[in-house]
Amino acid sequence: MPQGAGLMYIEPRSPVRTGFSKTSTNSSPPSDMGPTSAMPPPSPYQGKSIAKTLLCLSPLITLLPYLLSKLHYSLPEPRQETHLSDGTPVVSEANIMKHIQALEDIGYRIVGTEEAELGELYVFDQVEALANTCATSDVLECNVWYQKGDGMHQFDIMDHAVLKSYRGIGNVILQIGGVNTTKTIDGDPINNAILLNAHIDSALPSPGAADDGIGVGVMLDCARVLIERNKHITGSAIFLFNGAEETLQDASHLYSMEHETKDLVKAVINLEAAGSTGGALLFQATSKEMVEAYSKVPRPHGTVVAADVFSSGIIMSDTDFVQFEKYLGISGLDMAIVGHSYYYHTQRDTVENLQSGSSQHFADATIAVLDHLLQVGSPLNTDTPWSPPNMVYYSFYDRIFIYYSMNAANLLCACIMLVYVGILATRVRDSERKVYRKALAAAFGNLLIGIIAAVSVAVFFAYGLKKSHTWFTHEQLPLIIFGVPAATAILAYQHWLFRRETADQAVQEHAAVLAAIGFEIILMSLMQAFQIRSAYLFSNMAIVGLIPVLLNEIYSLSMNQTATVHFGLLQWLWTALCMPMIVEASTNFLDIFVPLTGRMGKEAPTEIIIAVLSSFLVYVFLPPLVPLFHRFNRTGQRKILLTCLLASSLVIAVFASPAWSSYDSTHPKRAGIQYMYNVSETCLIYFDNAHRSKIYPSQTTSGTHTLHVAQLDSGPGFPEFVTKVHERYGMQTRMPIQSVPSDSNSDWDILYPISAFIEAEKFPVIGHTWPSGEILPEISVSVMEDTWDQHLNTRNITLRVIHEGLIYPVLAFSADVVEWSFQAAAPVGHTRHYVKAASSPDKEDFVFHMSFKTESQHGKLGFHWVGIDTRQMYPATSEKHGAALPTTAMFREMDSWLKTEFQDSMEVLLVGAVAGVFSL
Ligand SMILES: [Zn+2]
Repeated sequence: MPQGAGLMYIEPRSPVRTGFSKTSTNSSPPSDMGPTSAMPPPSPYQGKSIAKTLLCLSPLITLLPYLLSKLHYSLPEPRQETHLSDGTPVVSEANIMKHIQALEDIGYRIVGTEEAELGELYVFDQVEALANTCATSDVLECNVWYQKGDGMHQFDIMDHAVLKSYRGIGNVILQIGGVNTTKTIDGDPINNAILLNAHIDSALPSPGAADDGIGVGVMLDCARVLIERNKHITGSAIFLFNGAEETLQDASHLYSMEHETKDLVKAVINLEAAGSTGGALLFQATSKEMVEAYSKVPRPHGTVVAADVFSSGIIMSDTDFVQFEKYLGISGLDMAIVGHSYYYHTQRDTVENLQSGSSQHFADATIAVLDHLLQVGSPLNTDTPWSPPNMVYYSFYDRIFIYYSMNAANLLCACIMLVYVGILATRVRDSERKVYRKALAAAFGNLLIGIIAAVSVAVFFAYGLKKSHTWFTHEQLPLIIFGVPAATAILAYQHWLFRRETADQAVQEHAAVLAAIGFEIILMSLMQAFQIRSAYLFSNMAIVGLIPVLLNEIYSLSMNQTATVHFGLLQWLWTALCMPMIVEASTNFLDIFVPLTGRMGKEAPTEIIIAVLSSFLVYVFLPPLVPLFHRFNRTGQRKILLTCLLASSLVIAVFASPAWSSYDSTHPKRAGIQYMYNVSETCLIYFDNAHRSKIYPSQTTSGTHTLHVAQLDSGPGFPEFVTKVHERYGMQTRMPIQSVPSDSNSDWDILYPISAFIEAEKFPVIGHTWPSGEILPEISVSVMEDTWDQHLNTRNITLRVIHEGLIYPVLAFSADVVEWSFQAAAPVGHTRHYVKAASSPDKEDFVFHMSFKTESQHGKLGFHWVGIDTRQMYPATSEKHGAALPTTAMFREMDSWLKTEFQDSMEVLLVGAVAGVFSL
C-alpha cells in the first residue's frame, strides 16, 4: 500500500467482495454510469495503526487547542498613558481603573444608601471637569445634567411582574455635540445622538467594580478622549451615567420617560458587566446599521448566538437596553464583560479581581463605534430609516468580524447543500448507498446516544452520589466529565451498529465522513428554515468538512477516475479545521453557562443542562470523531473502546471522590443569610373626611427573630450548611423548617423575583436585646383614599407607604386588580402582586393607587411587607452605619467563621431585614 506520499495516498476503489455482492443482490443492480461501474481488485485496506494515527493527530488535539485558547483569551495591552507621543488623546485602561477604584473606595453603591449618592456625585464632578474643558473648544459643545426624578413602571422578568416605584433616583448626563450639527438652522434639535449608558449603582452584596464600574470608567474615558481631541464631530454623544439599574432599571426608565434629550437619541450603546475577565462581549446588536458600526472595532468579540440565547430568556437577567428599546424605540449594541462570571453580584467584584486588558478592550471597542457614528454620512446623520437586525454576525478569535444578511445566509446554505448533493451523486455508488444511508441515520443516533450517556453520568452524580456541580470550578471541565463518556458511548454504538457490515472499510469511513457533514447540513437547514441566525454555526461546520472532502475528491478524480482516496490527510485537515471551531464554541458557551448554573435556582436541572450541552459540543463541533474511528479495523476499534471506557471510569472516579470539591474560593457557592425581625404591629394611619388622622394597630405578628438561610443554586452542600449555621446560631430546641414562598410567606421577598427560585430554610434565633436609643425601622402606611363602588364591586384605595430606614422594601398582596398607578395594565384575575420601591435616602416613601374587585365593602385586603435595614447589610453598611447594632457583631463573627469553616468557598449575602403585615 503506497503510504509514501504523506498521509494522503491512493488505492484502488475496492469494496470488499462479500459486501459488494450482498449489496448487489439486495438492491438495485450496479449502475453502469461513470466511475461507479468500475470493479477494482480486492482491497488491501485493513485499518490503520492506532499509534501512528494518534501520533499524527497529537499536535492537533493537544498543542493546537492550547494555542487557540490562548488566542481566544488574549486581550490588548492595557494602555498606561492617556496620550500618544504626538499628543493624541487615547483611551487608557490606567485612567479607567482610577475611576473604578474611586467608585469602589466610596463603598457599596446600593440604591437607597448614602454611598449610591456619593457615587453619583463623583461622576458628576468628573463630568463637570470634562465640560469645563469642552467649554474652551470652538468645535464642540457640551451640556451637563444631574437629573433627579420619581416614577412608576412594571418590570417583567422570568415570567414575573414586579411593580416598581422609584423616588429621588439620579442620572448624571453629559452631551458632547459637534458645533452646528445638532440643531437645524431654525434652532430645532436634530435627533442624531448616540446614547451611551452605564450604571453607577451596585448590586445588593457587591462593590460593583466590574458591574458596572467598568462601564462608567470606560464612558468617562471615551468622553475625555472626544473632548481632548477637540476635533469636529457630527451629531452628538449622550453619556448617561445612571443611578439605579440594579433596582430593576429605574434610572434608565426615568431617562427614557422624562429627560429633555430623550427624543434626540437614535441608537444606544449599553455598557455592562456580568463577569470580571475577558473582553467585552457584544451580546445584542439590534439593527443592521449598529452591526456595521461594530464591525469597525479593533478586536470584535461577539456572536449572534449570544443574542439568540439571551432573547430565549435562559440567562435570567436583563439590562437597561430593555428600557431604551421599550420606551425610546431605538436599536443599539449591548456589550458586557462576561468572563469568570463567578464574582458577578458578589463581594468579590473588586478592582483586584478585574483582568488587566478587559477595560482596554471595552474602551477600544466603544470609541471605535463612536468614531464611526459621529461622522458625516453615518447612519446617525442620515435620514434613511434603520434596518431590522436580520444579520448573521460573529467574530472569530477577536480578529475577524463576519456579517451578512439572512438572504446571503439562505444562499450560502443552498450552495452548501448543492455541493454536498453533488458529492453524494458523483462519488457514491448505487451499490454502496445503503452504507451511506445507514451512516447518516446513525449520525442522529450518535447525538442521542451521546446525550443519553452524558445525562446518565449527570443523573449518577446528582441523584446517585448527591454530588452535583463537580465541574463548577472550571468552565471547561464538563467537556471531560460528560464529553469523554459521551464520546465513548457514541463509538461503542458505532462499533455495534456496523458489527455485520460487510462493505469495505474505506467505504465505511467515507460514508462516516459524508454522514457527519450531512448531519451538520441538516441541522443548518432546520435552523435556517426557521430563520434562526445561529444556523451559521452549522454552515461553518459543514464548510470546514466540505473543504477537505472536495480537495480529496478533486485530487482523486485528477489522479484516476476509478480510484478513491483513503482519508488520512482528509481527516487530519478536517480535524485541524474543526479545532478552532470547537475551541471558540466551547469557550463561548461554557464560559457563560457554567458560572450561570451557580445562580439558576433550586429547580433548574443544571447538571442535565450542562451534560446535554457538553455532549452536544463534543459531537457537533468535533465531527471527525466517528469517521476517525472507522479508520481502524474491528480489533483496533475494540482497543480504542477499551481505552475510552477506562478513561471514562477514571474521570468518573476522580470527580466522584470525596477529595474533589464542587466549589472553591474562586468559584464559590452562592447563599444568603437573612436575620429577620418580625414586627408585632404595623402602624396604619387613616385619614377621615376631615383629614384628621386616626392610628390603628394592625394585625399582630409573632414578634420573633428568625434566621433565614437560602441557596441560589441546586448544587450540593445546602443541608450541611443549614445544619452548621443552625448549630451555631439557632435556637437548639427548634429545628430548621423549609420556607416556601407563598401568599402567606414573604420571607425572601426582598429578592423577588429571585425569591421564587431559591431554596430556603428558617429557624428562630435567640433575639438579642435591642440597644436603647437605636430605632428599628418599620413601614408605616397612610390610607389616603378608601372608597367602595357598589355598582362595580370595586374598592379604590390610595396608600402612602413610608419606609424610612428600609431599602428594597416590598409590599405583597393578592387581589383582582382592575386598575392601578403602574405604567401597565393590571393582569386579569386574582393573583399575587409585588410592589418594590427604590429611593434616595431622603425620599423614603411612595404613593400608589389601585382599584380591586371585592365582594363586600367590609372585605379585608392583607399585605405583607419586608425591607432591609439600611444599616444592616454586611459588609456594605453595617460597620460604618450600624456599628452599635447587634447584627453587626453577629455578621462579623459569622463572616469570619464561614470563611474558615468552608475554606472561603461560600459567597453569602448577609442582611438584617424587618417584616410585618397589615390589612385594610
Ligand atoms: Zn449591571
